[in-house]
Amino acid sequence: MKIAMLARNPTLYSHKRLKEAAEARGHELRIVNTLRCYMNIASRRPEIYYDGEKLTGFDAVIPRIGASVTFYGLAVLRQFEMMGVYPLNESVAIGRSRDKLRSMQLLARDGIGLPVTTFAHDPKQTEEVLKLAGGAPLVVKLLEGTQGLGVVLADTDRSAKSVIEAFRATGTNILIQEFIKEAGGTDIRALVIGGKVVAAMKRTGAEGEFRSNLHRGGSARVIKLTPEERSTAVRAAKCMGLAVCGVDMLRANHGAVVMEVNSSPGLEGVEKATGIDIAGKIIEHLEKAAKPHATRTKGK
Ligand code: ADP
Ligand code: GLU
Repeated sequence: MKIAMLARNPTLYSHKRLKEAAEARGHELRIVNTLRCYMNIASRRPEIYYDGEKLTGFDAVIPRIGASVTFYGLAVLRQFEMMGVYPLNESVAIGRSRDKLRSMQLLARDGIGLPVTTFAHDPKQTEEVLKLAGGAPLVVKLLEGTQGLGVVLADTDRSAKSVIEAFRATGTNILIQEFIKEAGGTDIRALVIGGKVVAAMKRTGAEGEFRSNLHRGGSARVIKLTPEERSTAVRAAKCMGLAVCGVDMLRANHGAVVMEVNSSPGLEGVEKATGIDIAGKIIEHLEKAAKPHATRTKGK
């Protein structure tokens, strides 16, 4: 296969591993800097150019689109889809998962366990929304936050209110969530590929930190999921329409609750914690799935 990988930094662990894994299995993988692609949106003749060269002949595309370049990155990916190149994850599914509110609404529609989550626009409703979420302690989250930045734990209703007001003043959208205390600063990341959990790890936050993100100093260990957790992860991936994703869950008293579904999961933490060749499994999945012109959405 001839594979394009949309990524900006070829030296990142995940990107290097995917390239190695593709080449080890006899494929050609070209890293294409998303922001340097430009497009001709001609009727029935979609084209992508790169440094004066027309990109053609690709069988599959692996999108590794950073959160900060979602808008342009998804436009480039849609263009590939319209040219009939098979995407590891479809543009529409990535767009869905990048919006935390939309994701939670879709997961809720499918009956997947979630932390109690509330949302409102009007500051006059703040107190009501705090009450609906069950009162302090509460977690306040920026809708577009990543790597644990923009996630705040408020111990009292009063501090929750000031955090909400501070975020509001900057014009950002936020979610309010019940604090799952019993998770004890640990979350679970399940890696789903093609409808199966292929690896799972638990991440534990640094001492005194409720956020378990590896970027915030958390550490990762291999973990065995319960059948319920496994099925929750698979259902969440299916609900988002993502072939490859990382499903982040918390162990709540009432079972596993999904926090987030990540469409470009980092491979370093999970490969090192579990010893599983995730990059190889991703390429293996593409080999089975990437039939020319098999994109279902064609960018719809
Ligand atoms: P990000 O997308 O920035 O990683 P998350 O929503 O995943 O943000 O939150 C970051 C971390 O904070 C999680 O990995 C988890 O450890 C902790 N966390 C988030 N929401 C809750 C919650 N409702 N209850 C308890 N801990 C939470
Ligand atoms: N039903 C699709 C979704 O929930 C709509 C497609 C779209 O608007 O992007 O993602």
